Amino acid sequence: MALSGSIKTAGGYHWAYLNPDDKVSEKTSKNLGRATRGKKQSAEQIEKRVAHFKGKPHENYNSYKPVVCVETGRIFASIKIAAESVGVHQSLISKVLHGKKKTAGGYHWKFTKEVFYMTEKEVYDLLVETGAIMNGHFLLTSSLHSPHYVEKFNVLQHPEMTEKLCRAMAEHFKDAQIETVVGPVTGGIILAHETGKALGTRAIFTERVDGVMTFRRGFSLHEGERVLIVEDIVTTGGSIREVIDVVKKFGGVPVAVSMLVDRSGGKATFDDVPSFALLHMNVETYQPEDCPLCKENVPLTKRGSTGKK
Ligand SMILES: [Zn+2]
Repeated sequence: MALSGSIKTAGGYHWAYLNPDDKVSEKTSKNLGRATRGKKQSAEQIEKRVAHFKGKPHENYNSYKPVVCVETGRIFASIKIAAESVGVHQSLISKVLHGKKKTAGGYHWKFTKEVFYMTEKEVYDLLVETGAIMNGHFLLTSSLHSPHYVEKFNVLQHPEMTEKLCRAMAEHFKDAQIETVVGPVTGGIILAHETGKALGTRAIFTERVDGVMTFRRGFSLHEGERVLIVEDIVTTGGSIREVIDVVKKFGGVPVAVSMLVDRSGGKATFDDVPSFALLHMNVETYQPEDCPLCKENVPLTKRGSTGKK
């Protein structure tokens, strides 16, 4: 399977997520080598790869850097494998990677180290594409009008998209010695799970008992446990402040807050706990009588209506 150019596993190893800086065993490297072509690689070729993956990159080894297809999120161990998978010459993908060409085989390509750092534009586009951010003219429950409506579960219902976003968040905290990721129900459970997976940590969640945020289900923290708090769409940050208090109460250290979208316009801050957001939005709202969209006769969509963009 992997030997014939499919690129998910080789010799039972799920090697697509390898980071060039990771240490790789000789066995894994051999499997990587075999997976590139379905042929045994020479000792010298394997040597080269091992050298590269052990963090001794050389310009000539660029073709052995893992790359990702931006559209599908699929990761390939090298340009060569990626090229074979879409049936184009590897030089075309190489040109895309070096900014000399826009697409190859109809796709955009990046080295994987870059893809973990999603730009705000990439995050925004992904959220719009999935309908998590809707643009139009919306009547909110507050009876205010807004040109945007956010439905986080439109993206969270897609595990692959959620994984991608959480990996981008995790990238910012990979050196922060996080031990546990915590999120508040409901979206926070999913985000904590995916972010914890990316960081290789535990993932737990807080929930309310009689309106008070706490840990249930036997969740606990050891004294000084380093915790990353995650949340999806943050409007005021109120829930996050409650999670911070829970973490402190249980003996943990809230290292940072990581948000998918900070739509507070900079108002969501957490005293001594630093925060990070994949996307910052300032969601404008208008009184109906002052609404510019009403003046332009843009049809009004009631909040929560599905399928409207
Ligand atoms: Zn309006």
